[in-house]
Amino acid sequence: MTSTAAQTAQDQAYYRDTYLFAAEATVIAAGEEADGPWVALSPNIFHPKGGGQPSDEGTVNGISVTPSRTDDGLVVLTAEEGSVLPQTGATASLAVDPELRKRHAALHTAGHVLGHLGEARGWQSAGHSHYPGQARLDFNPEGLEAELATPELRDAVRAELQAALDAVLAVGGTVTAETDDAGHRTVTIEGVNSEPCGGTHVAALGDLKDVRILELKVKRGALKVRYEAEHA
Ligand SMILES: [Zn+2]
Repeated sequence: MTSTAAQTAQDQAYYRDTYLFAAEATVIAAGEEADGPWVALSPNIFHPKGGGQPSDEGTVNGISVTPSRTDDGLVVLTAEEGSVLPQTGATASLAVDPELRKRHAALHTAGHVLGHLGEARGWQSAGHSHYPGQARLDFNPEGLEAELATPELRDAVRAELQAALDAVLAVGGTVTAETDDAGHRTVTIEGVNSEPCGGTHVAALGDLKDVRILELKVKRGALKVRYEAEHA
């Protein structure tokens, strides 16, 4: 099977269910690179790094693997050099680290809401990172100089954003995703927005806790909004 054909055949189960932490799956492609052997499985439950969200960690038949996405869109799982992974056609047991998955999904989903609230203020998105301990959204700071001129003003804006965030979270909208025939996925947070996204999300905003905007600062030409979030 070519990589493109394998990509078409790979069912991305993590697109449908953030909480599918383990599955039996079939090896649809396998190979060996300089950094170690790899397999691609279907259904696939691993989120590979992308869109500012770190990759899942987990195992294939108990062997630690790291997921990544090929240029063709196939999610492959690479093990350490010398590991023995199952052959094409074999059935294997997949597992992802549930706590890491939930933490990433919480940070990522909170990032959607915060990005929406920034844009609702007229801010232009300029980037994001949803890595634990360093989650932040970037906005274009042009035109915001007066609003953000002093630490006191920046903290007042932070408090306004936090209040808006708390109000949205209190409503607790559901989070759903749809993938069209061309493979384009749209994520909708009820009462917030819809946007194209390939990441993992909580099922509803009520699954978030301790969502806090930590700081606003203008650095290296960007307004950086640092935040944190946990899975309830
Ligand atoms: Zn997303």
